[in-house]
Amino acid sequence: MAIAVTNPATGEVIETFEPHDEAEVERRIAAAQSAFVALRDTTFAERAGWMRRAAELLEADADEMARTITIEMGRPLAQSRAEVLKCARGCRFYADNAEDFLAAETLADPSSVKASAAGTRWAPLGIVLAVMPWNYPLWQVMRFAAPALMAANTGLLKHSSNVPRSALYLDTLFERAGFPVGSFHTLLIPASGVERVLRDSRVVAATLTGSEPAGRSLASIAGSEVKHVVLELGGSDPFVVMPTADLEAAASVAVTARNQNNGQSCIAAKRFIVHTDVYDDFVARFVEKTAALRVGDPLDEGTDVGPVATESGRDELAELVDDALSHGAEALTGGSVPDRPGWFYPPTVLAGVTRDMRLFQEEAFGPVATVFRVDSREEAVEIANATTFGLSSSLWSTDDDEIEWFIDRLEAGAVFVNGMTVSHPELPFGGIKNSGVGRELAAAGIREFMNLKTVWRA
Ligand code: NDP
Repeated sequence: MAIAVTNPATGEVIETFEPHDEAEVERRIAAAQSAFVALRDTTFAERAGWMRRAAELLEADADEMARTITIEMGRPLAQSRAEVLKCARGCRFYADNAEDFLAAETLADPSSVKASAAGTRWAPLGIVLAVMPWNYPLWQVMRFAAPALMAANTGLLKHSSNVPRSALYLDTLFERAGFPVGSFHTLLIPASGVERVLRDSRVVAATLTGSEPAGRSLASIAGSEVKHVVLELGGSDPFVVMPTADLEAAASVAVTARNQNNGQSCIAAKRFIVHTDVYDDFVARFVEKTAALRVGDPLDEGTDVGPVATESGRDELAELVDDALSHGAEALTGGSVPDRPGWFYPPTVLAGVTRDMRLFQEEAFGPVATVFRVDSREEAVEIANATTFGLSSSLWSTDDDEIEWFIDRLEAGAVFVNGMTVSHPELPFGGIKNSGVGRELAAAGIREFMNLKTVWRA
């Protein structure tokens, strides 16, 4: 894919970029290595000061960056602005908490290991390669970059080819904030250039958020180099509605959970599994609210849903829906590509999706929901878990025993009860099964790229 800004609302190519050549890639890896040597001699307090300055810069740049994001990937402007501000929150969270998360621990009774003192401390590893997607072009990067830099690791970013302006903003952000030159830089390279960087001995680990094929490819290269990886590869999250749920709240949140970010979120609720006692009522509300969403130019403040970010993404989504419809599914709203410029797809709700349809197994990366009627909690959990993904899940019930029952049985990295899945800096984020390995955010996220060093003294 060419490195270019293409407005998905119009299909117009706005700007193209030359990839970095081999010499520039080498220069940036060398700078990241020098920065690592400098950064690991700095204190938490120094790094926290720079990280707080990065938060201030993000806030000052929020309006301009929101526009950039919306033009690059099509998200409604208010949501783009919220993303930039969330990045500032992430920076401050790690500025405030990194030192505690990485505190040394001592063994209470060192004589038990024949030592005068023994324990552990966390040491940074070096350069981490971050391969990142376009769907939250700043936040996906920030949830790696903020903990990495606070831990005194350095980062090299290979961003999606369709968000180069966001990538170049991040290229200078941390240097502007005061971090040593080279601490965090962007490599403008195609996906085919990732292997060379990952095999470089100075690059010690990698993190990737994106598709399963990209994750598998990166992990197999990292495996052959014995390098640690964190993978966040998407999901097909269930949203389970049981009879005691507040149906109006559930239906409203369901619409946001499915259609926010034009439906292109790994943690979007994608499969709505509803108990038969409340199925008709819930689905009627869900369909009515979905059909009422305003689709249009994402720069227009009145727009709820903009275009899908890429033409290929829109076409893949349409193929998944067409496959389901041709095999007997029913569109309760939406379900066909509109006749207009840009890569729009209408918010869609499908019923009657069965296991032999692609839509049952594959991730629908756009505003397409599927609804399932179930007779029992056992059937609900069986359908919820009948997927190769396991990122997050949402459960709607006011019965405490039932809530506990579901929390224990849903195969996912998270369960959100009576709410939609949201990534918070304060909570670990990540999946099981084909949704990935490892965790981002909270204490778990900053510890992923660290050497837990055991220290023993005679
Ligand atoms: P990709 O996985 O192709 O892209 C994500 C990042 O990985 C980009 O930086 C991309 O670079 C890079 N990449 C792609 N292939 C490789 C590879 N073999 N080795 C190393 N890096 C690679 O996602 P797409 O944008 O093509 O979207 C396709 C699907 O992926 C979506 O429909 C959705 O299902 C899933 N996805 C999930 C996301 C999530 O949040 N978990 C986010 C985005 C997509 P380049 O852009 O240069 O190809």
